[in-house]
This record gives sequence, C-alpha cells and structure tokens, in this order.
Amino acid sequence: MANNNGYGHGDNQLTTCTKLALDHIDIDLENVQGFDSNAFTMKLFDDKDDLIYFHVVFTGETPGRCDDGKRYFFAEIVGKDKPEEVRMWKEMDEESENCTVENCIFCTGMWHPLSGGSCGYKRKKKKN
Ligand SMILES: [Zn+2]
Repeated sequence: MANNNGYGHGDNQLTTCTKLALDHIDIDLENVQGFDSNAFTMKLFDDKDDLIYFHVVFTGETPGRCDDGKRYFFAEIVGKDKPEEVRMWKEMDEESENCTVENCIFCTGMWHPLSGGSCGYKRKKKKN
C-alpha cells in the first residue's frame, strides 16, 4: 500500500537500464535518475534475433555544479532476457534540438537522438 511513488515493474527495468548505462558512459554525473524506458524486440525485421532491446532516457547533473541543471542521456541496451550490454548512448540537448520524440518506430513519447544510431530509427516525419 506504500506504493504511491510510481514504483513498479517498469521502474525496475528503468533502474537497471540506467545503472548499466551509467557504468558505460565516460561522464561523471550525480543525482542520476531514470526518466523513461521501453523494451522491444527486432523480430519484425529478423525473426532469428532473440535479443530484447531497451531504450532508456535518464538525467544527471554535472558534479559540483548546480547552476546548469539536468543533462539528458539516451542509451540503447540489449540482453537475452534482461538488460545486459550497452550498444550506444548519446547525450541529448533539448535546446540544440538534437533529440526528438518522433524518430523511433518502437517507442512513443520518449526522447531519442535526432541523429539516430539506435534500432528502430526513422527519419523525423513532418506532420500534416
Ligand atoms: Zn526507441
């Protein structure tokens, strides 16, 4: 009944992915928090691909600096039945518009690098 802070299955995945990504990137961060994650497979394109793919967005702050706020990161992680290996990651900067919520065929409403490099990448479509 104490579950009033959104903790649940999805958050376990998010936390695991965030920790893995954090181990992998070469930037010092503090106050790191998982922001959003999504899991999918690539069987649509390759039915022999049994891996699970995870896209994760997390935030962190530069240690010792409280003036420039949160930094946003994206990572793609794969694993056989749980997040295991970071395939790629990128820092995203909303102000420089190098990220978008519209260029991944698997995730909706989640930030991804505009330049792609992740599975499910699609070019940004113009809305009618
Ligand atoms: Zn995605």
